[in-house]
Amino acid sequence: MAHLFVPGPVDVDPEVAQQQTRPMVAHRSKEFEEIFHRAADKSKALFGTQQRVFISTSSGTGLQEAAMRNLVRERVLVCINGAFSKRWYEVATTNGKTTGKLEGEWGKPILPEHVAAALQEVHYDTVAVVHNETSTGLMNPVPEIAQAVRETSPDTLICVDTVSSLGGVVFEMDKWGLDFVLTSSQKALALPPGISLAAVSERAMERAKEVPDRGWYFDLLRLEKHRLANSTPATPAVSLIYALDYQMDRILTEGIEARADRHAAMRRRVEDWAKQRGFAMFAEDGYRSNTVSCVTNLREMDISGLNKFLGEREMRISNGYGDLKNKTFRIAHMGEIHMADLQILLAAMDEYLAKNHS
Ligand code: PLP
Repeated sequence: MAHLFVPGPVDVDPEVAQQQTRPMVAHRSKEFEEIFHRAADKSKALFGTQQRVFISTSSGTGLQEAAMRNLVRERVLVCINGAFSKRWYEVATTNGKTTGKLEGEWGKPILPEHVAAALQEVHYDTVAVVHNETSTGLMNPVPEIAQAVRETSPDTLICVDTVSSLGGVVFEMDKWGLDFVLTSSQKALALPPGISLAAVSERAMERAKEVPDRGWYFDLLRLEKHRLANSTPATPAVSLIYALDYQMDRILTEGIEARADRHAAMRRRVEDWAKQRGFAMFAEDGYRSNTVSCVTNLREMDISGLNKFLGEREMRISNGYGDLKNKTFRIAHMGEIHMADLQILLAAMDEYLAKNHS
């Protein structure tokens, strides 16, 4: 039974969690190098890439920082339509990068033509976009945005945050021509928090050579030197990498497409439920996330009361993010959650509504 219908950290399968109790090995040992190589290699399928995958002992925000520090030569354009793209903008500016904003309304997609227009006005060497805005339940049209960037400004690198989508959708980094794609462990990959992954293109690695002050911990050139020897410059989260190695087998056995279909079916179920109960979906139709649904709280349901009620049944959903608190609520349907789990949650929410809001 699933407990956490929040967009991370999510429930971890007991067998996956168990992997972390395996005896420790030295990270500079052949044994670890094999596991590290295997885990990174299997992860490539998630990204849809033949390129390198780095496993980072940090949460995803660390890799947002890595992208900015390593790839932005002069100027980066950050597409902002939610809390996590807003954070990426702050990450860029606090790292001293000259940063432009392309702001869109929350709940509405970033449109490729707007990205193209921004690139025509000013030359940006890097563009950053969040694929799945966890704060609004919106999935930006990354393939179309990438195509617009390629056509308008071919030398511009494209960085994508897939923190809350990778593992829950079919993703095609190489086909779409992306340069830096990052994700975190504690969302659609259904692992504990603590590691993150980035797939990085050859031209991004070339760019890093030209960018000064890349720092130490997230220096892609240093990470690459070690990666080629199946290791890391600093001590990695060995236990989490055992879990990643194991979880990747489970994900690949289910199949990435089957997994994406399972998530999409749950999105449709939440949409139907919300509409039938007099709520609305916050994100625009056609751009709704398959991994987290953000519902506009038209019935002014008491969300903390709901979570107390759900807590007695060992379940939990998320309130709206930031200013959207109580105006929206979010139901995550990622990772290990299956339709039967979602039905149990929705039935409990119906019970709560009948008792308190009828
Ligand atoms: N980007 C997105 C889209 C997120 O949802 C989150 C966290 O919820 C982050 C970035 C930050 O990731 P982390 O908490 O792993 O640093």
